[in-house]
Order: sequence, then C-alpha cells, then structure tokens
Amino acid sequence: MKIAKNKVVEIEYTLTDPKGEVIDTSKGRGPMTYMQGVGNLIPGLESQLEGRSAGESLVAIVPADKAYGEKDDELVQKVSRGAFKGVDDIKPGMQFQANSPDGHARVVTVVAVTDQEVTVDANHPLAGMELKFDVKVISVRDATEEELDHGHAHGPGEHHHH
Ligand code: ZN
Repeated sequence: MKIAKNKVVEIEYTLTDPKGEVIDTSKGRGPMTYMQGVGNLIPGLESQLEGRSAGESLVAIVPADKAYGEKDDELVQKVSRGAFKGVDDIKPGMQFQANSPDGHARVVTVVAVTDQEVTVDANHPLAGMELKFDVKVISVRDATEEELDHGHAHGPGEHHHH
C-alpha cells in the first residue's frame, strides 16, 4: 500500500537543521503515527512522502517556505522589561509563552536584553530554516471511520477521546 490522502502512516524520523544538529528524532520514542493529506505534517514533508511504501527510506530536504515559513521581521519586537515581572535574570535564548491578540498562546524567544527593554522574537523557532528529515516508512494502512471523522491518526491502543 502506498502513502496517499487519508492513509495512516507510521514513520521513524530524525530532523536536522542545516548545520547537522539534531532538532528532533523518533529514536528512543518509537515511530510517529500521522494521517496523510490532512495537514498533520508540514507540507514539504507530506508531499515527499506521498506515494512511498512501507520499508522505504528517504532523505527529505524541505525549504523554509514549505516547512515553518520564512522569518517575519514584524514578529521581532521590543517590549519593556516591566512585562517580565518576577523574572530577575532575563537572557537571550530564554523562551516565554505569550498570548497574541487573537488569544492563541505562542512561544517567544528572547534575542536581546537592555536595562529597559527586551527584544523578543515570536517567529516559530524553525522559521526561515531549511530542514532535513531522514525518514523510514514503517507501515501504511487505511484510516478507520473514527480517524477520518477526527481528521487525525490514532496510535496503537489509543483510547477514545472527544
Ligand atoms: Zn481522535
């Protein structure tokens, strides 16, 4: 069976950045299960998995615009230090959860700190980055009615939810 829309697929993967640093891997966790063609994965990875079969390995290079998007300079903002009440020692690289005007929580990363101001970057940490996935397809099956209804895969033995 080949990977196509609404197939439930198990993959092992290792994700590395352009410097070869491992960002994420399924090693030690077991394969990841997802549903093809419904936006569970970044588009550039999904498109390169289309048509593959169980047992196949591939290296997928995904440019930023098909992964987490290009960096948006408008998402880099200066905020007053007063916004970080209770945090004594703010350093570049620290991450905080902030609420955007539409009410969604998003993670911001501190990029610079002065006595008065903190510069934070609300871009996705992987925005602007070309990603490399080493992937092995473990299994491909049809989705169940329930999975189709929910729009995502259910892992082995996963109990019913919502
Ligand atoms: Zn579900």
